Amino acid sequence: MTLLFSAARFLSMKKRFLFTPGPTPLPERVMEALGRPIINHRSQDFKDLLGKVRDQLKKVFQTKNEVIILTTSGTGAMEGALSSSLKKTDRVLVVNAGKFGERFEKLSKALGLETDVIQIEWGKSVTPAQIEAKLDKKYAALCIQASETSTGTLHPIEAISKVLQKKSPETLLIVDGITAVGAMNIPADEWKIDILISGSQKAFMLPPGLAFASISEKALEKMKSSDIPKFYLDFQREHKSILENQTAFTPAISLVVALHEALTMLLDEGLPLVFSRHEKLAESSRAALKALGLTLASEAPSVACTAAFLPNSINGKTFLKNIRDKYGFTIAGGQDEWEGKAIRLSHLGYYTAFDLMNAIAAMGRELNREGIKSDTAKALSVFMDTYDL
Ligand SMILES: *Cc1c(COP(=O)(O)O)cnc(C)c1O
Repeated sequence: MTLLFSAARFLSMKKRFLFTPGPTPLPERVMEALGRPIINHRSQDFKDLLGKVRDQLKKVFQTKNEVIILTTSGTGAMEGALSSSLKKTDRVLVVNAGKFGERFEKLSKALGLETDVIQIEWGKSVTPAQIEAKLDKKYAALCIQASETSTGTLHPIEAISKVLQKKSPETLLIVDGITAVGAMNIPADEWKIDILISGSQKAFMLPPGLAFASISEKALEKMKSSDIPKFYLDFQREHKSILENQTAFTPAISLVVALHEALTMLLDEGLPLVFSRHEKLAESSRAALKALGLTLASEAPSVACTAAFLPNSINGKTFLKNIRDKYGFTIAGGQDEWEGKAIRLSHLGYYTAFDLMNAIAAMGRELNREGIKSDTAKALSVFMDTYDL
């Protein structure tokens, strides 16, 4: 019998790996928790669990205020943040520096709010001065990403918050921290973020399905006079529920059970270490991708994912498809104007240096197959030097 060999045949065992900035890989401990028998969400056991998760979430969000838990994707929390805290006649300022900034813009407009937009070139971040220049008008809320995942770019939230405190302290600061919370230092209270949003499938190392939002006293106060129609995504009602270690509706119970495991992992490691691990993986990935001959795409790179442009001759979609088919690695591509041109390598959540080195090796190899002189061995050694392995 002849042995039929092809690289793709390795994948017959279906070992696959996600390098996407959401969803991200699951730790074994989380997978085990997801498989436990279901418990009732109105039982004392669940209340006890939610009490623990509530305290843990406050630590991860670095807040004394409550963090509500919603069974929805991240976008649901973005929508609820606006519909729960604003009035129909309010004016909103949105920073649009990529797909997720655009989402805030569309959401705000869909809710019928008067929406002003600061349009930022992809790969760049907004400056505090650009925000300040807009504040002659009165805004009920400023909506911005901490980490714009579509371009792998950070916005300077702390400095922006200071500008708001100085020029427009009544404006709510609503931050989409979906690829920031649990990956980088973003202290909700210290930075006076009124609503800080995150989602389960990113740094929280869980499947998609849960979203979280911390709510400041100022935001809670504004919610009392909010008149935008809402029902499921009512932050005020969820806030009342979490005070009793409950959610308003049936939550994704298994995800909450697994959340407790994931938060325990993050807090056992310690947030400073979690943040420096993400920083180090990001720094090493940037160095290695540069060594492969790619061009980094962001002027203020995120700790969540590294966006880089492929050489012009490469069709990015085919390149990433080949890597997926041959290696079983799903690496995110560029979206919209960056589609087919950029890759986005995730290092957010449950990754080690060795995971990322696999992705870098695969990319180097496929670049060579496309006729690009790219030194995989050098890129890997640059990665290890930078990571200090
Ligand atoms: C993933 C992500 C979201 C949420 O997307 P969903 O698909 O609704 O979970 C929002 N903002 C940013 C910055 C993200 O990375």
